[in-house]
Amino acid sequence: MSLLEITDLKTYYRASDGWVRATDGVSLSVDRGETVGLVGESGSGKTTLAKSIIRLFPKNAEIVDGSINYDGTEITELTDRQLRKQIRWSEISMIPQNAMNGFDPVYTVGSQIVEVIRYHEDDTSKKEARKRARELFNELGIDPDRIDDYPHQFSGGMAQRAMIALALCLSPNIILADEPTTALDVVIQDRILETIKEKQREIDSAMIMITHDMSVVSETCDRIAVVYGGRVVEIADAETIMMSPRHPYTLGLRNAFPDISDEDKDLISIPGTPPDLVDPDEGCRFAPRCPFATEECWEVTPEAEDYGDGHMVECHRADEIEYLQEEAAKKET
Ligand code: ATP
Repeated sequence: MSLLEITDLKTYYRASDGWVRATDGVSLSVDRGETVGLVGESGSGKTTLAKSIIRLFPKNAEIVDGSINYDGTEITELTDRQLRKQIRWSEISMIPQNAMNGFDPVYTVGSQIVEVIRYHEDDTSKKEARKRARELFNELGIDPDRIDDYPHQFSGGMAQRAMIALALCLSPNIILADEPTTALDVVIQDRILETIKEKQREIDSAMIMITHDMSVVSETCDRIAVVYGGRVVEIADAETIMMSPRHPYTLGLRNAFPDISDEDKDLISIPGTPPDLVDPDEGCRFAPRCPFATEECWEVTPEAEDYGDGHMVECHRADEIEYLQEEAAKKET
């Protein structure tokens, strides 16, 4: 069994016009030490999936069905208090999209790290916890004396590094990294990603890396899950997703990053907008935007098909994808 096994998870938001089905039947596993990327457009449900794992979401969110098994513990059955004490930060931690939102503005950054350490380690003194926070700051390239600063005194890059320190201070088994570098200057993005990977290797943790950037996942992940309309529509090892994907949406995503895709190949683009998650229609959610959609695609929701070596695809036409691509290329020329 994998370290983390998510099965048929459904997390919905209560909204004025009904339930927003942000995570709508997702199954995903993560092994020890493995890095799994979640890619997809904005609003596809990546953040909701990650936040469901440690239940760090707004009051109108609810896990309505499914299972999240972490190392033998069914997380969905834990109370909030049990989750805080047993899982959050110590076993599974999160680096959020915008670090400034991760810290409480009224306390110094250091005191928040010290509090997290001491909440989970009864025997650790304040002095020891401070020493550890200072060491982590140092390793992450922040002047250790800045642990007594408030979040607003930090630059964006520094706050993100401090958030990484918080996420790593208890050497968790899984790190959820939600677009950890998008709020940052391009120049420091690579350095921060490198720092996260280095620390991950050092403490031998697994990671779920959320991004809309295919180049980031292809460089940092072992496996990639492509998320569309609240579902994982394709999952495989990184090379398969980049070199021989079978879902038309994955082809489109890859096309949006020409530096990675083979420039000689004619690829499709993704016109249209993501589906309405309040009352999604029957059939494939990608059908309205898919150049290859048939009547069946509009009417019948596709089930995940196994293409071997963990390559799963939810598409009625996944078998024909190479032929369809060739035909599409002919039409364009
Ligand atoms: P992004 O990259 O922009 O963060 P995402 O892929 O992470 O996007 P989510 O943030 O998980 O997607 O959002 C999935 C869906 O849930 C979207 O339709 C979004 O509008 C909706 N949603 C998110 N938060 C709430 C909320 N608090 N209440 C209602 N709907 C929400």
